[in-house]
Amino acid sequence: ERQSDYNRLAVDELNQLARQWEDRYEAYKNRNLKLDMSRGKPCPEQLDLSADMLTILQPGDSIQAADGSDCRNYGGLDGIPEAKELFAQMLGVSRNEVIIGGNSSLNMMHDTISRAMLHGVYGSQSPWGKKEAVKFLCPSPGYDRHFAICELFNIEMIAVDMLQDGPDMDAVERLVREDDSIKGIWCVPKYSNPDGITYADETVDRLAGMTAKARDFRIIWDDAYTVHHVSDNHDQLKNIFAACKAAGNPHRVFMYSSTSKITLPGSGVAVMATSEENLQTIRKQIAVQTIGPDKINQLRHVRFLKNMDQIRLHMDKQAAIINPKFELVLNKLESELGGKNIASWNKPNGGYFISLNTLDGCAKEVVHLAAQAGVTLTPAGATFPYGNDPRDRNIRIAPTFPSISELETAIDVFCLCVELVSIKKILARELHK
Ligand code: PMP
Repeated sequence: ERQSDYNRLAVDELNQLARQWEDRYEAYKNRNLKLDMSRGKPCPEQLDLSADMLTILQPGDSIQAADGSDCRNYGGLDGIPEAKELFAQMLGVSRNEVIIGGNSSLNMMHDTISRAMLHGVYGSQSPWGKKEAVKFLCPSPGYDRHFAICELFNIEMIAVDMLQDGPDMDAVERLVREDDSIKGIWCVPKYSNPDGITYADETVDRLAGMTAKARDFRIIWDDAYTVHHVSDNHDQLKNIFAACKAAGNPHRVFMYSSTSKITLPGSGVAVMATSEENLQTIRKQIAVQTIGPDKINQLRHVRFLKNMDQIRLHMDKQAAIINPKFELVLNKLESELGGKNIASWNKPNGGYFISLNTLDGCAKEVVHLAAQAGVTLTPAGATFPYGNDPRDRNIRIAPTFPSISELETAIDVFCLCVELVSIKKILARELHK
């Protein structure tokens, strides 16, 4: 049975519903729940899949890298050869085009921006920070920690709408062509955070080929979810590095990924890929910062993950754990909110999030009500630059960490809050008519 569109109900029907929902909400409040759907963290069962990481290197095992170097010692600034080989394959680049970092790709992105502000990038005429203004395009909703990096370095953020096939490229092309203070764009191109969208081939080509007024313009290509499918339908992402080369802009893209959500987020391996010229500049700078990364951890990862086939099998096991959680959330959203015309959401094939839009002007209140009933969500607005969602409607749901039963309760409370706030919104609108 299709549920009725709330926008078409009479005022007294809405009032009656509101009273019902309020009673249910009070009942939840009395249960003193403490549930968290705020951050995209793997659950303990997912982490258990990588239990062998803790014992895979034993005393007496060879700790030599493929180039004969001793992984226990200093050196190997940009990673051991076998790690470069594996992660080059994961990103679809050659092994001369990658640097293996520490445990965090966010750290590598932060350092990239920091270096660019202080020193510029390969081909810059001056450090970005010497300019009167530095701006970044921020497809939104997007990843709050990207936006936090811009805020830290006083880089002005320009929000660009995320559409179903990636950023609004008409807007991106126009802005980048006209303004040479726009130095970059943040992209989560596959199973995006939070929408779960994968950029269309045409979007990739347009990003690679567009005319940029800033000659040292860079695309920050955060391919954090490149092998992170949750369904049997796997999205395909066009290789932007190849597209940039083909378009005559070989230095335009900085790609990143990590094993944070493949193995262990606290002790994964991060990787950056870009042109050899870019890498030469970056290596010189990194050499001042460190004598070398944690090569033992790189070795552990290569011994554990082995090759791309093994990574795929491992990610299938991850999917088997989290797919039921995504299904649960999506089914609940449909059964509780479907057809009422008060919310819309994406059904992602991968990644870590479900992104939901409420009626305009409701998101903050929903998150607030949920928090008061003990359910923590990502703060409303966090998915936009400066924490400001101009329509106050986007909410990011992170279903992986809670157990199935916790998730069930949490999403019930969440749906209830969406109902309550929406009804009040519609009633207020009716009163003003
Ligand atoms: N990029 C995106 C899009 C993410 O969602 C996350 C984790 N939430 C990260 C980067 C962080 O990656 P890392 O653990 O490698 O720093």
